[in-house]
Amino acid sequence: MPTISLTLGFDQLGLSPKVFAKVSALKFQSPTPIQSGAVPIALKGVDVIGIAQTGTGKTLAFSLPMLERLRPTEFGLVLAPTRELAMQIEETLHKLGVSTALIIGGASINQQVHALRARPQVVVATPGRLIDHMDRRSVNLRHAGIVVLDEADRMLDMGFAPAIRRILAATPPRRQTMMFSATMPPEVRKLSEEFMEDPETVEVTPAGTPVERIQQEVTYIPHANKPEALNYLLEEHAGTVLVFARTRHGARKVAKALRTANHSACEIHSDRTMAQRKDALTGFKSGRYRVMVATDIAARGIDVKEIELVVNYDLPDNPEDYVHRIGRTGRAGHSGRAITLATPEQAKEVRAIERVLKQAIPVTNPDAAPPAPVVHMPRAFPARNARQNFVFQSQRSARSCRRG
Ligand code: AMP
Repeated sequence: MPTISLTLGFDQLGLSPKVFAKVSALKFQSPTPIQSGAVPIALKGVDVIGIAQTGTGKTLAFSLPMLERLRPTEFGLVLAPTRELAMQIEETLHKLGVSTALIIGGASINQQVHALRARPQVVVATPGRLIDHMDRRSVNLRHAGIVVLDEADRMLDMGFAPAIRRILAATPPRRQTMMFSATMPPEVRKLSEEFMEDPETVEVTPAGTPVERIQQEVTYIPHANKPEALNYLLEEHAGTVLVFARTRHGARKVAKALRTANHSACEIHSDRTMAQRKDALTGFKSGRYRVMVATDIAARGIDVKEIELVVNYDLPDNPEDYVHRIGRTGRAGHSGRAITLATPEQAKEVRAIERVLKQAIPVTNPDAAPPAPVVHMPRAFPARNARQNFVFQSQRSARSCRRG
């Protein structure tokens, strides 16, 4: 049985009416797990370690408490590993009405000096360029009352440890520090021990992606054969199954096809009302629905664990989301299975996921995998013509014999 907790609303995080109004304007239905975990802790003013992958909603998790807690005499400092991430963070802060200075390499240093002089509420910086400004004395970090290290593991991987140490040493000792990291390698832990005081940890996915416990496979298959493949997988697995589709339209379509094929399936995506989402979640938890079809965004606001099988019916838009998706299976010592259906044209996207995982995903049907010029029907799935269907049937009976 899956364990599920549903975060009910931003109104339950302890935000003031003013900040609540700002976050409501963003029109997110509910906080993501890292938001519901980290915001109430950070609002107390204590140091926070957030263990969460990219794309889990970390930016709001630290921006909202910052907005609540920054004194008029202070500014917030957010350190990020890349210019792109720094820009994204700035964008979110702007949506909340926060004034910022973006301190990244490759942009005009004079304009940045100007932006710093304008006394922004938050400075978003990559470590290298911030050090340049410290050397030029165009920034004084003694007023950085709240410091955020975003993607700390990545910053250390990129060799920013000396810069980060120098930056933190220049901030006031009585500051609030929040550190977000997808993993907790010893160097990150060391940094937290050096620069944080009794931090509270919020963990959204276990430290170190759970991929070791998950049996992963990718099956190359023409798009048109995916419905049959999914049906087959649902017959093969007796337990709960979470299916990821890329769009809400896709999720709706898949769920409808499953119901037509007599599978008990619910759907969760942004076209569903809160009541429908709740029904889907409680129904999935109680076993009324065995299959849940979700989009990435909708799945972010919920915590669904201990799923027997995760099916990536579509590839995620961001390779990082793959880890987040498959992390829904294989929890709490259980082994899990994650099967990705990709079209042969998507081999490049699968490679991108493998780079994030730092490991190859075994291919179920290597004969159908690129760069093979001809795409065959995957052996493991039902085929359309009678001969292949026969092969499929006999494989299945062989399997049931072995089992029986
Ligand atoms: P982040 O991890 O902060 O980069 O956020 C990843 C994506 O999730 C961004 O596109 C956000 O706009 C989106 N997001 C953040 N919070 C929520 C939420 N509570 N519900 C749905 N989407 C969110």
